[in-house]
Amino acid sequence: MSRTDGYQLHACPHCDKVHVCLNYVSLNFMARENWSDGRSYQSLYDSRQGLHRCVGCEEFFLKSETNYVGDIPGLRSRIKKNEYEFDVEELIRRQRDDGHLFDFTWLHDLFYSMKSRWNPTRYPFKKSKKQIAKEKAAKEEAELLQVEQEVQKELAPYPWLSYAQDSDLKNIIANKGKYSDDLMRSARTLYWMYLNDDYRAQRKAKFGDKPIPPEEIPEFQATAEQADNMLALIELLKTDSYVLKTRIGELYRELGYFDQAIVWLDDGSESYQEKDAILLLARKKIRAPVRIVYAHQRH
Ligand SMILES: [Zn+2]
Repeated sequence: MSRTDGYQLHACPHCDKVHVCLNYVSLNFMARENWSDGRSYQSLYDSRQGLHRCVGCEEFFLKSETNYVGDIPGLRSRIKKNEYEFDVEELIRRQRDDGHLFDFTWLHDLFYSMKSRWNPTRYPFKKSKKQIAKEKAAKEEAELLQVEQEVQKELAPYPWLSYAQDSDLKNIIANKGKYSDDLMRSARTLYWMYLNDDYRAQRKAKFGDKPIPPEEIPEFQATAEQADNMLALIELLKTDSYVLKTRIGELYRELGYFDQAIVWLDDGSESYQEKDAILLLARKKIRAPVRIVYAHQRH
């Protein structure tokens, strides 16, 4: 599982509107279904290439382009502090108690309450250990609720950081001059996956969710719009600080430029399972986006 603790505050680079988002402390990229263009379904963490839209000015930006303005601690780290304070004492007491084979606390409590009823002056009323434990649990629950309300109150002024939608992508690409290369790389990658979704839907309608042998993969032909976007994306990927060679190879393969695809894939340094699957298809001159089935997904 991907784990989160607390929240981060990020200001829009265009209008300074502060948004809140979850603070991830560990990421798990596993998904139920992965495709060769990078599309994944039921993923435990999908950042949508980091592309967001401002709730204030409605402009687009990458999370990496925002101004980080601070954080709001989450429930876990607020409660943990209290837990540690109690923990040491509890631990020592437990170790000491370990010597007893049976717990006769209830018997002591019973005798004491009888004595207390018989002579309340000598044996003043004392709560039983069970009662004390019950009250402590109730107090902790009330504290938890209070902390929860505190967190909600601190979060209230900020809108959630929201992702750019697939329907925004065409607009971003039409105004490409306004945006950074990093942002365009994200937008064009998302647009590539989005335009491939039609093909995916057709294939699913015919074959369901099953992986199919290469010779049965339905034909794929990129439209002019798809090809324009894919070629522009290839150029952007080639100038990135970290060149995703397997992704460039996959784009060339889907465009039908198999020789170029093989050159880039042969040189690819990313996931071997993914690279090998794509390379095999390029050699067989198959263009279609395909499902990549990783070892942990086979059953
Ligand atoms: Zn803004």
